Amino acid sequence: MIGCATAYFAERAGLRTVVVEKRPALATLTTPVATGAFRLQFDNAEEVELVRESIAFFDELQTGVDLGLKHQGYLFVSRTAAGARTQGELVDAQRQWGLTDVELLDGTEARRRFPYLAGDVINARFRQGDGWLEPRRLALELARSSGATFQTGVGVTDFIREGDRVRGVSTTAGPIESGTVVIAAGPLSGPIATRAGLDLRLATVRRHKLIIPDLPQVPRDAPMTIDFETGAHWRPAGSGAHALWTAPAPAEPPLDDVPTSSSFAFGLLDPRSDHALARIVPFWKEVWTSSRLQWWLQAGQYTYTPDRRPLLGPTVVPGLAVNTGYSGHGIMGSIGGSRRAVDAITGALSPGANPFRPDRPMEARSFDVL
Ligand SMILES: Cc1cc2nc3c(=O)[nH]c(=O)nc-3n(C[C@H](O)[C@H](O)[C@H](O)COP(=O)(O)OP(=O)(O)OC[C@H]3O[C@@H](n4cnc5c(N)ncnc54)[C@H](O)[C@@H]3O)c2cc1C
Repeated sequence: MIGCATAYFAERAGLRTVVVEKRPALATLTTPVATGAFRLQFDNAEEVELVRESIAFFDELQTGVDLGLKHQGYLFVSRTAAGARTQGELVDAQRQWGLTDVELLDGTEARRRFPYLAGDVINARFRQGDGWLEPRRLALELARSSGATFQTGVGVTDFIREGDRVRGVSTTAGPIESGTVVIAAGPLSGPIATRAGLDLRLATVRRHKLIIPDLPQVPRDAPMTIDFETGAHWRPAGSGAHALWTAPAPAEPPLDDVPTSSSFAFGLLDPRSDHALARIVPFWKEVWTSSRLQWWLQAGQYTYTPDRRPLLGPTVVPGLAVNTGYSGHGIMGSIGGSRRAVDAITGALSPGANPFRPDRPMEARSFDVL
């Protein structure tokens, strides 16, 4: 996704661009594992603005190309007094950042609007304009319309250096010289950056997606429904659902093939689990006992920076830039992030105006709920 989006904006900025992808096809590592969701309900103004730009772009693109885009909303649901209070505070803060279309619903109103919610839900926050799209469709459309050259099945092995300066890359198909090299290698960005002596301080953490192909209980018009206390969430997909959960998990080395674990499925589906989907939506109890229940799993890696925000633009190594570190937001952040990364490279965006510049001071931030 991020390589394709970088190419799209680089070509529009007048930079002749080559994208080198070591796999035989584009958008086949982390990008197709994403559930493709986007939201403006963030806890800081900078990320709201970054994703706002992406969503406006998606809406415009969808008028000519079917991205599978749906504005079915994000519904964060709370069952505890503390959670309900935090949700209220967050909505107040979001209003101050100009995000005026987030609704705060009490339990009764939430159940009236979304009858599948549990009786003990205290409040919910909902924004209709949030939603999802098909990530691979977006990535391949950006690649197609970029005008860039794509080389698949070609791996970058090292950088070509002239003194301190990066002048291109060595690849499995020979050298490519370039005025600027952009690392947009997802979870594998860290190891390749070390070849240029750069420590990007990235951590890679395995994340799963549970795919249930057929699920009559799921209303087809339901929003992304999130348990605010546990982070477990699901959304309609095809005639079934995608379900996910992103609790703190240990970092693992970056991988080209990410294994799945059946315990992830049981953690969401078994009503006895402390993060069961059934906690806020009782129909998941019926799903658990149904003989029709079948599922499969996909896994990929989140690429985390210490402050959970992406790294966008030139690095301290002359000629070397990065566009990576999107944690769970690389689809929704792709457009706003890549436009900023390219503007930072061309000088259209100054370092002082770029809160995502790679050499910023970073304070460790705890895990976001998603
Ligand atoms: C379970 C899960 C759910 C998610 N859900 C969402 C969501 O709902 N919304 C959202 O916005 N984000 C979501 N994300 C995050 C999103 O998927 C990522 O942020 C995004 O896909 C990252 O894109 P990327 O292009 O940086 O990485 P990737 O898709 O991993 O692409 C990196 C590419 O670089 C190539 N590469 C690496 N090293 C080299 C090399 N040396 N030479 C050549 N090529 C190389 C790789 O082969 C790969 O194709 C989710 C992620 C996961 C795992």
